Amino acid sequence: MIHPENNEEYRGLTVNSGVEQPSIVNPYLQRGRFARRRLTAADYVEGIIKGNVTILGQAVTLVESTNPQHQAIAQEVIEKCLPYSGNSIRIGISGVPGAGKSTSIDEFGMHVLQRTGGRLAVLAIDPSSEKTKGSILGDKTRMEKLSTHPDSFIRPSPSAGSLGGVARKTRETIILCEAAGFDKIFVETVGVGQSETACHSMVDFFLLIQLAGTGDELQGIKRGIMEMADGIVINKCDGDNVEPCKLAARQFSNALHLFPAPESGWTPQVLCYSGFYGLGIKEVWDMVYAYFDFTRANGYFQHRRAQQAKYWMYESINEQLRNDFYNNPTIASMLETAEQSVLNGQRTSFVAAKQLLDTYYNIRQTAVEQR
Ligand code: GDP
Repeated sequence: MIHPENNEEYRGLTVNSGVEQPSIVNPYLQRGRFARRRLTAADYVEGIIKGNVTILGQAVTLVESTNPQHQAIAQEVIEKCLPYSGNSIRIGISGVPGAGKSTSIDEFGMHVLQRTGGRLAVLAIDPSSEKTKGSILGDKTRMEKLSTHPDSFIRPSPSAGSLGGVARKTRETIILCEAAGFDKIFVETVGVGQSETACHSMVDFFLLIQLAGTGDELQGIKRGIMEMADGIVINKCDGDNVEPCKLAARQFSNALHLFPAPESGWTPQVLCYSGFYGLGIKEVWDMVYAYFDFTRANGYFQHRRAQQAKYWMYESINEQLRNDFYNNPTIASMLETAEQSVLNGQRTSFVAAKQLLDTYYNIRQTAVEQR
């Protein structure tokens, strides 16, 4: 059977179509009790809690939509799903393009599903996907086994907006997936910059995939990304590459020893494996599960989640303030002139910023008084 989420026809929603609420075009659903009517927030919640992946997929589309009406429903659905969320392990998987993320996630995913049963959602954070028109992360066609597995849900990165916006949507999607009974969440991200921080801020374990054989393994990788890693795995440890991988593993281990001890009390491990040939996969997951046992026992697991919730509260405030400011028509009309005056040296950055902010505060104040 075709997994409904893998069939474009069953996606149902057209984002930004200007309709009040999305209408259902799903032939499965038209035979069911949701037949031929638009779904309410309560319908979405009910469908999600029953584990219906078609409804889950449509709810995620609402989360990703920039249409204010879709957003309003999405926020209601998220809030109602919150009490059913949280019961999962969330794992961030990062690596530069070509490191073998898709190949590995396919293998890792099949391994954890065989090992512990349950359901797996694979999500992605790729802020570049807007520019490249189509994400290379979370691409179903690159995860052959998982994409046809009945207990998996694969969703590419939301493509609209800033990194903050993309990351928020991924975090909200985690909540919906958990409410739908997905007890394992992988968040894939490209190991090149800030998207790691965003990914790290929503997962329990951050796995960094590295490659060996370039002779300068430690050169190209930012210290900050290494410091975030709870585990580093060297992929493509097969054929002639076994010895270079072992050497790279020793170098990473030595480098990790120079970092301050992580707050979790856990010592990050470095392992070699081959995603393509399926070698060493069990050992990688023995490590991940050992981390969960360790951090659940010492209370760090819950502590990290609480800290993340706090972080997301501030992120959410920052994002909404920023959007409100920049989307204000008066501010938008002033920005170019202000920018030019700073570039020409007519005004300092601080004076220009203050003038814009003062204008914004006045607009807000007037709006409050008129209420
Ligand atoms: P991504 O860009 O990080 O998602 O990387 P991919 O999973 O697409 O892999 C990039 C290339 O590396 C592909 O040609 C894979 O077949 C190859 N590859 C991935 N894993 C392995 C591995 O374990 N061993 C070898 N030899 N090649 C691999």
